[in-house]
Amino acid sequence: MIEKIKQLESIALQLEPNAAKRAQMRLAVVDYAESFLDNIEAGKAYQVTQDKGIQLLDFPVTEQGRSIQQLIDLIEYNVDRPGLNPASGGHIAYIPGGGIYPAALGDYLADITNRYAGVFYANPGAVRIENILIRWMCELFGFPKKAGGNLTSGGSIANLIAIVTARDYKKLKARDFEKAVIYSTKQVHHCTKKSIKIAGLYDLVQREVPMDKHFRMDAQALATCIKKDKEDGLIPFLVMASAGTTDTGAIDPLEAISTICKANELWMHVDAAYGGFFILTDEIKEQMKGIEKADSIVIDPHKGLFLPYGSGAVLVRDAKLLYDAHHMQANYMQDSFDDVEELSPADLSPELTKPFRGLRLWLPLQLFGIAPFRAALQEKIWLCRYFYEAIQQIDGFEVGPYPELSVMIYRYVPKVGEANAYNLDLVNRVKEDGRVFLSSTTIDGTIYIRLAVLSFRTHLSTINRCLDVLKELTQGAQA
Ligand SMILES: *Cc1c(COP(=O)(O)O)cnc(C)c1O
Repeated sequence: MIEKIKQLESIALQLEPNAAKRAQMRLAVVDYAESFLDNIEAGKAYQVTQDKGIQLLDFPVTEQGRSIQQLIDLIEYNVDRPGLNPASGGHIAYIPGGGIYPAALGDYLADITNRYAGVFYANPGAVRIENILIRWMCELFGFPKKAGGNLTSGGSIANLIAIVTARDYKKLKARDFEKAVIYSTKQVHHCTKKSIKIAGLYDLVQREVPMDKHFRMDAQALATCIKKDKEDGLIPFLVMASAGTTDTGAIDPLEAISTICKANELWMHVDAAYGGFFILTDEIKEQMKGIEKADSIVIDPHKGLFLPYGSGAVLVRDAKLLYDAHHMQANYMQDSFDDVEELSPADLSPELTKPFRGLRLWLPLQLFGIAPFRAALQEKIWLCRYFYEAIQQIDGFEVGPYPELSVMIYRYVPKVGEANAYNLDLVNRVKEDGRVFLSSTTIDGTIYIRLAVLSFRTHLSTINRCLDVLKELTQGAQA
């Protein structure tokens, strides 16, 4: 038996490479990461390829391993070449991605040390870091001391957690489902609908509140809807406001919505996944007024704080409600809400075992301080405003509403032919060109191109490049 164990051990030990082997792997990875970063500015934001990484299919997982260099080459050619490069500043579509360098170092450390940030007693330091970040965000949004929250994998899960908390707090039962009403605009992010579905609330009445011409919720119309629904015997339940819609960056009138929610005892949720961190800027602070009165807020550090994908957050005005909705007592894990020094993330979300997400956020914030984050967010706002002016100087382009944040819509109106088809084709041609990456949207039947500035790598030179591309690709269409 000893012989058997020793034999297995000798193979299993491959999982623990020695210092020399670690250095060899690490250097290969760091070399590649450095060359990736060196080339990011000159490289394409989108690369159309025939193969779409199909070579990966020839490398199934097998009994024997392969060399690190062979694997890096595979990744470079098949993963990092075809399609979109979300780490590129030229990614000015959808909501751009981030990837600030020290976040990767935070992940590296968190993965090496594998601290467990789910339960306070297991790793008090890791949980403290996550709770410090949550408290920082709660203060940023003007939430009271009793507020709490959770670091999630992204905005979608954060929205789900908020909706489940609202559902349980309001004690909605199956018999109420066909009477309870959720209010939002047509511009609310589709993941909130997904959350409603996953939370088992799809049978609720989902009311679409009219918008003003800037695509913001019409607060007066909301009040009228609620009044009518009450008269009809329905149960107004939840308002899902947006602080920065994905399509146009519209911020709903949060102050007015909060007054209506309070008067009618509705849960006020604000999806600020895209726009939330703009609260750090003087430019936007004013429009965010009222967000401090929300019952729950969703924000995405992997958007507004430029982290790599995998970082969202939910903040709840009263941490107890978050706890009540997500806490499950297990006999091997005993604690209670009142007598703990720090709340445990595992009691505040569906997750038990989870990655130590805090470090990838804490490390960059501590290293850089807040100032460069704030400046980068301001820069994005001004770049969008700059584009709004500049695109109108190119023949044939018209714009949507003045940008509230760093997203705006515009389109090309050709002299001949159908505008919608032209703009879809233009977006495709921009993609084939690859110097920048843009996306489109449809609003009331009209196709618009979006500009979404949120990558920390998007600067004035990027926006000028985008203007050049659009000018080149539309040349002649006005003739
Ligand atoms: C991105 C986004 C979401 C979804 O968040 P994920 O992090 O992609 O899951 C929700 N709402 C808004 C407004 C967003 O921009």
